[in-house]
Amino acid sequence: MNLSGKTAIITAGASGIGRVIAHRFVEQGAQVCLCDIADDALAAVTRELPSAIVLKADVSKSSDVAALYDAFLARHSRLDILVNNAGISGPTKRVEDITDEEWNETMAVNVSGQFYMVRKAVPLFRQAGGGCVINLSSVAGRLGMPLRAPYSTSKYAVRGLTDVLAVELGEIGVRVNAILPGLVDGPRGQRVMREQAEKRGMTLEEWMPFFLHNISMHTMIDMKEIADVAVFLASDLAPHISGQSISVCGNFESYRGPKT
Ligand code: NAD
Repeated sequence: MNLSGKTAIITAGASGIGRVIAHRFVEQGAQVCLCDIADDALAAVTRELPSAIVLKADVSKSSDVAALYDAFLARHSRLDILVNNAGISGPTKRVEDITDEEWNETMAVNVSGQFYMVRKAVPLFRQAGGGCVINLSSVAGRLGMPLRAPYSTSKYAVRGLTDVLAVELGEIGVRVNAILPGLVDGPRGQRVMREQAEKRGMTLEEWMPFFLHNISMHTMIDMKEIADVAVFLASDLAPHISGQSISVCGNFESYRGPKT
């Protein structure tokens, strides 16, 4: 699981899952460059990871992505690992109530963002003679999630992009995989659970056991577990793992509870 000597770019690395991945990558010896759009979180992660390059960049804007790569290349001459982690939840609404803006914003961050990032990475991987891409999808990219049409669609698209890239970039020695987290015990997971509880007039403490009862392993996922899978996929222990969608979800796919 050693990442010594490897360079990595991690999007949305200032909080949530991306922040934990950034910490694990640094612990394992990688030289990390991360971006985010949240000023406070960027300031905090700059203090936590003084060795990292920390940049403000919105992955849904190709001009920000170009500036990010310029800043990365001012410090490093090769790229080994790209973690496309940035993703937003999108609206929780019936499909007929979703606005153009909500749909387009979710696609722009979750799908176009990964495309912009990987497009700029390919010449660097070609130059390095290989590389590794890890795209964050979701169990919502395997299960159609009611009331989450933009998010679920975007996360299916991430798996599609992953499959295409694995074939196209395999020829130049680049491995491309997707991680599909289930319900993660972090800021977003807590927010989603609170919203669902409120919708039912329940407290979080009442709703959580009921929700988790419907997942066969009855648990939320620790962010460290997602980060460990990312480290493994990026390491030399996974030289022939490519084109895979790896669920890390406590068998969320077994969920049989209320859907809306
Ligand atoms: P999060 O909502 O906690 O956000 C993490 C960071 O993303 C924030 O710091 C935010 O500022 C940043 N961000 C948002 N939009 C951005 C943009 N356009 N450009 C750059 N940064 C941006 O997210 P998370 O829970 O850590 O999720 C990380 C990834 O994992 C996402 O792709 C998400 O869809 C996926 N995922 C999360 C869960 C979960 O339960 N948390 C489950 C399945 C999949």
